[in-house]
Amino acid sequence: MRIVVTGGAGFLGSHLCDALIQRGDSVVCVDNLSTGRRGNIEHLLDHAKFEFTLADVSTDIPVTGPVDAVAHLASPASPPDYHRMPLETLAVGSRGTEQCLALAERHGARFVLASTSEVYGDPQIHPQPEDYWGHVNPIGPRSIYDEAKRFAEALTSAHRRTSQLNTGIVRIFNTYGPRMRPHDGRVVTSFIAQALNGDPLTIYGDGSQTRSFCYVDDLVRGLVAMIDSTEPGPVNLGNPQERTVGELAELVLRLTQAESKVEYHPLPVDDPARRRPVITRAQQVLGWQPVVSDEDGLGRTVQYFRDRPQEVEAARELIAGGQLDGAVLPAPAPVDVVQAA
Ligand code: NAD
Ligand code: UDP
Repeated sequence: MRIVVTGGAGFLGSHLCDALIQRGDSVVCVDNLSTGRRGNIEHLLDHAKFEFTLADVSTDIPVTGPVDAVAHLASPASPPDYHRMPLETLAVGSRGTEQCLALAERHGARFVLASTSEVYGDPQIHPQPEDYWGHVNPIGPRSIYDEAKRFAEALTSAHRRTSQLNTGIVRIFNTYGPRMRPHDGRVVTSFIAQALNGDPLTIYGDGSQTRSFCYVDDLVRGLVAMIDSTEPGPVNLGNPQERTVGELAELVLRLTQAESKVEYHPLPVDDPARRRPVITRAQQVLGWQPVVSDEDGLGRTVQYFRDRPQEVEAARELIAGGQLDGAVLPAPAPVDVVQAA
């Protein structure tokens, strides 16, 4: 197949490009490098079946030749990133998705949207099955991302209904692994970078909020299965192993053997209190489930960061300046500092 991967130079997108190239597909990676990095795809640039196109998919997707599938991953994904680029995030969820759907339609190609667990907002149903409609603040600080993805889902569903386009929607839950930027502001990267730098781990709120963390290799297997199927979805892709943020901090400290303290900072506005996917549908329709444990996946991610000490050290100031306590992003003053357990 010849597959267009938007956001292919990002964290998930670059691993997806790798997986597709490895099994013999041709890949056209379209990315504007706003949060992605050329370094993530450097090893693919000379590959005969890999093409890189620098473009903003909200404006144009300059792809010629046959297309069998379009995997639309382009979008800022980390809260500090989408807070920094609110209009761009809304644009890529709306106009960008429209462009990708039009490309798929022109070629009669399969279209897969990388949606998110954020469509469930701060969920009142726990764990979250796909038929839960969510609890989202449409004008809050996170709405730029949540509503962009909800609109992208609506647009995808409308195209499926009106033109019988072969579409699929996956809702991705927190995923982590090598190639994440140490300063991207997400909790896994921040905690690992802070631990390796000997800095305090910044817990927002009291650390009792939960997330369910999926290792990237597992997630990419699910994405590939979705590209190969005709399943419309939405399908949750995530690891149902749920942890509090406080437990994650302890695990990172154990795996890095760091002696960092933990610091408590204000909880960002509308930060979901809990999140865990129901993955029965993914198991049934894609035969998919995650197999990598948190210890194993985090261990591999820690090693990736250890191998890049300069990058991790350079992330120090960026992490400190990039925290979010709502719509604006001041560096928060610590409200409490305690010794790690
Ligand atoms: P990322 O920031 O590493 O990757 C996003 C990529 O999209 C980057 O390479 C960026 O440069 C590119 N991009 C952004 N806007 C673009 C535009 N207008 N035109 C072209 N390229 C553009 O983030 P990620 O974690 O790899 O996320 C990839 C996708 O998966 C996103 O759509 C995100 O919403 C979704 N997702 C990720 C997670 C997760 O935990 N990683 C969870 C839920 C959903
Ligand atoms: N978080 C935290 N410290 C950080 C970064 C994030 O405690 O340095 C919290 C954040 O408030 C949220 C959870 O960790 O409750 C996951 O945050 P992340 O930004 O990784 O993803 P999302 O909120 O999109 O699930």
